[in-house]
Amino acid sequence: MPKFLVNEDGSLGARNDAHCVSIEHKLGIKASPTAVLQFGDHGGAIGTLVGEENRGLEYMFIMMNSARFSVGMQGIAVSERAYQQAVNFARERVQSRPVDGSAREAVTIIHHPDVKRMLMTMRSLIEVARAVAYVAAAACDTAHQHADDAVRKQSEAFYEFMVPVVKGWSTELSIDVTSLGVQVHGGMGFIEETGAAQHYRDARILPIYEGTTAIQANDLVGRKTVRDGGAVARGICAQIAGTEAALGQHGGAAFTAVQAQLAKGRAALEAAVAFVVANAKSDPNAVFAGSVPYLKLCGIVFSGWQLGRAMLAADAKRGEDPSFHDAKISTAHFFAEHILSQASGLRDAIVAGAAPVNALSEAQF
Ligand SMILES: Cc1cc2nc3c(=O)[nH]c(=O)nc-3n(C[C@H](O)[C@H](O)[C@H](O)COP(=O)(O)OP(=O)(O)OC[C@H]3O[C@@H](n4cnc5c(N)ncnc54)[C@H](O)[C@@H]3O)c2cc1C
Repeated sequence: MPKFLVNEDGSLGARNDAHCVSIEHKLGIKASPTAVLQFGDHGGAIGTLVGEENRGLEYMFIMMNSARFSVGMQGIAVSERAYQQAVNFARERVQSRPVDGSAREAVTIIHHPDVKRMLMTMRSLIEVARAVAYVAAAACDTAHQHADDAVRKQSEAFYEFMVPVVKGWSTELSIDVTSLGVQVHGGMGFIEETGAAQHYRDARILPIYEGTTAIQANDLVGRKTVRDGGAVARGICAQIAGTEAALGQHGGAAFTAVQAQLAKGRAALEAAVAFVVANAKSDPNAVFAGSVPYLKLCGIVFSGWQLGRAMLAADAKRGEDPSFHDAKISTAHFFAEHILSQASGLRDAIVAGAAPVNALSEAQF
């Protein structure tokens, strides 16, 4: 909708009835002004038809899918900035002697196990979100470019399933990662000059705009899982089982541990898919009470899957750069034990947790 109308001869026409009435005061992303626009309060605003009549919703969804994927990438990007800053701080800040008595003086905090846990949580969440997003992006390319029609269709279905996961999972975890970034800084994290809090504030919008996490989760449950009877979801689970087999063949402690957690995670996801498909029509309140946990379960299990693949690739290339590839393998192992292990709890929330979600009447809140 233009601010000024354009005359037939191309010259500048009348002022349109579209006005900016204020600039929002926001929690974060302050360098990206958001305006309140008012249309038609002084006689009527004139809009311009984009494309063909009655195809607006279809066009909007092409834009929305792209925007949702991009917001997921924003989550990964802001998380990466928070991580790099936290690592730099942890390398410099001296506080407390080591718990193992290895030094008589205070050491830099990167030597404390809990600081390492926070940094590993940040690092692994960023790596998994990036891997899941890139696999989704590759499927999008294949869906557009592959010569085989069947492969194009299969890739399209996979990509469509992944979009709400990339958007919802990468942005929800960006809040955890940027919050940990503040925590690594201790009191300095709460002080604006440090810059850690800015990432936390900037991340907070990401699970809201371009559709809140619940809206992504509703899409994942309704259009992406129930509509095809869980076919795409189960197809992904079959691919995950293939990665489990490859991890098992490799052997080695870290590989076996990741395989075990991935198998449990996949079983949890299969149970959740079966529950969602079986109950969506007969008891939608029960299914949608667990829609966000379902999205998170997909995020966690797909993440474990991609890190399983990454650790196999890292092992194959280990000789090229042992330090880099060993770090990949350790990051995958950490993710499996600390985060992928949460999958069975999410399954329980989805399959058995609906009754208490829906128990209270409006008056009881
Ligand atoms: C900084 C900023 C920039 C923005 N930029 C744009 C822009 O450029 N263009 C644009 O069009 N919009 C923009 N928006 C709007 C943004 O997309 C919406 O705020 C967002 O989609 C959430 O919608 P809502 O505010 O109406 O929240 P509501 O829909 O009112 O949601 C409130 C709560 O209810 C939950 N909820 C609502 N419906 C359901 C449901 N069916 N199932 C389960 N839970 C539900 C939500 O998850 C949320 O927790 C912007 C917003 C902000 C803050």
